[in-house]
Amino acid sequence: MSLTARDLLQKIAHDTGLPYKTIAKRVNEAMMKGEGLIEAVEALAKKHGLDSKEYQINARKTMSEIEKILKEDYTQTLMISAVLGQMVEAKGKDRFPAPAFFAFLEVLSSVPQAPKDVKSETSTEIEDLTTRIIELTTTLVSVICEWSEEGVIGVAKDCPPDLKELARLVFRKTMMLQSGLWACISCGRIVDAKSTRALMCEDCDIKMGNDPVTRADSSRHARDRTGYGQTSKSDEQN
Ligand SMILES: [Zn+2]
Repeated sequence: MSLTARDLLQKIAHDTGLPYKTIAKRVNEAMMKGEGLIEAVEALAKKHGLDSKEYQINARKTMSEIEKILKEDYTQTLMISAVLGQMVEAKGKDRFPAPAFFAFLEVLSSVPQAPKDVKSETSTEIEDLTTRIIELTTTLVSVICEWSEEGVIGVAKDCPPDLKELARLVFRKTMMLQSGLWACISCGRIVDAKSTRALMCEDCDIKMGNDPVTRADSSRHARDRTGYGQTSKSDEQN
């Protein structure tokens, strides 16, 4: 059972003998027409005479994996959060999709605070874990939410019952952001979405300005990261 969309697409690429890029493109096209991720992959499997049951993502397991990483270490979790908070407001291919960020914040608020330790995380470790979190959260929202060309449009039909509340919340927050309003993730004040910094209001952003974790992202441009479904240069070489 795959944990991320990337693992799943790699598995079907391997089993069909098609390049990853081709698979990603076909799945993307199907999803643009309103098919779910799993639905699109299942159809592809059937078309190639493969057992579609072999190509599933267990959203609960994907969620547990996110929880596991966020519970590991306090500083590490803070650093990952800081990088993601900035990426969600980035432009272009560095951008972390807002729905995935909302899911991340929800999981973060539900896990017990991670223990503080004395080990210092290297930027490579943070980079790798952040990439992993991006893959896991983008996969999670692509499975539990219903998507169209415009983005999230509701809860997926086959969303597991205990994850429906999370899917609804991701949908509501996405709608709010699209309508140009935002509730600051730090103080909760409703502000113009255009004026936010890392989804915080300007005041909270200034207060956080001296926080060392905001400096954790110095190496975030070091590697190409893509959310699920975007075909990056590195995928094309696969
Ligand atoms: Zn605020």
